[in-house]
Amino acid sequence: MIGRPVPPPLGSLRRATAARAGAAHRASAYGIAERGGPLVALEVPRRAALPDDVVIDIDFCGLCHSDVHAGRGEWGARQLPLVPGHEIVGRVAAVGREVSGFAVGQRVGVGCLVDSCRECASCREGLEQFCERGGVGTYGALDRRTGEYTQGGYSSSIVVNQGYVLHVPESLDPAAAAPLLCAGITTYSPLRHFGAGPGSGVGVVGLGGLGHMAVKLAKALGASVTVFTTSASKVEAARALGADTVVVSGDAEAMKPVRHTLDLVIDTVAAPHSLDPYFATLRRDGTLVQLGLPGEPMPPVNPRPLLARRLRYTGSPIGGIAETQEMLDFCAEHAVAAEVEVVDAAGLNAAWDRMVAGDVRYRFVLDASTLPAPQTPAPPTSAPPTSAPQTPAPPTSAPRTSAPQTPPAE
Ligand SMILES: [Zn+2]
Ligand SMILES: [Zn+2]
Repeated sequence: MIGRPVPPPLGSLRRATAARAGAAHRASAYGIAERGGPLVALEVPRRAALPDDVVIDIDFCGLCHSDVHAGRGEWGARQLPLVPGHEIVGRVAAVGREVSGFAVGQRVGVGCLVDSCRECASCREGLEQFCERGGVGTYGALDRRTGEYTQGGYSSSIVVNQGYVLHVPESLDPAAAAPLLCAGITTYSPLRHFGAGPGSGVGVVGLGGLGHMAVKLAKALGASVTVFTTSASKVEAARALGADTVVVSGDAEAMKPVRHTLDLVIDTVAAPHSLDPYFATLRRDGTLVQLGLPGEPMPPVNPRPLLARRLRYTGSPIGGIAETQEMLDFCAEHAVAAEVEVVDAAGLNAAWDRMVAGDVRYRFVLDASTLPAPQTPAPPTSAPPTSAPQTPAPPTSAPRTSAPQTPPAE
């Protein structure tokens, strides 16, 4: 096209100006407005930047199965409206006056947590995902410091305390990097914790958003990777992702050569299923880590293989902030990112339906530039927050929510 680009609508200019100034503003978003309803265009308030806040213009946000569970009330009723999204990549629009380590224009990310108590033993060890007072989820949670109800990344901007903002290396494609903030760290953390690396054999059960990241990360860590899939149609796809061995798990003959050969199995399946075939693949002192959270009870665990080979059966949620940064840096170094299909805001509901149907390779990512401009004028920016003293309430005296704050990832 010749000539000047078409200017954006006035609403989006106001919003962008407010965000850049660190002022309170309304972000355009897609969320659930009515119980049982679809995702619709709406607006959410974003606070003026506190002294230690980073204001982020969102470029991309991954679509996680947790979003669907939360949005459709499958993990209990949530306060509405609910704007999902915790795989956020964007650029710094403004910073509070006490922010160090982030500057306007830098590419940053936000994952599943936007705060935690910072005082408990887990927080002090950098394991905020295990915060003993409950971490503050990026959406659908009460932020104890600000008293706000958090709204996630299906939106044009977000304001997050600097302690929970990640640097996203420029070498990573921003859309493909977004799913690293949940699917990436959820698989990287147990791979690292249980020692996946050169010489180790890692099994991956399920080849969805989490499973495909587990394959890529385990390979990049140097492990030998075996993928278990129920679908013969996924064998080639698993090999294309880097799997050394692919086994159709319903085939008892195909499972035999893998018996007692693996050190670690990452189980990403979020539907009830027997673990017996996978325990059988583990050698002495092997570990099966469950990452999927089925909505229905699992079949009973048979303790015999646990005793016979001193196996461990455990689970793992997301990861801490420091480990998430380590993962992002690792992915940049090894050129690892998610396989994504980018969708417009208008396509979000169809994308959710396709996710539920398992029809995605391997992660949908929202292009936040397609969100409609807000209709509500931005509030006046006469009181820049960066000059106003703000004293957050001490976390111990703030109210607590009874809702689960850190939704398990998928
Ligand atoms: Zn804590
Ligand atoms: Zn997630």
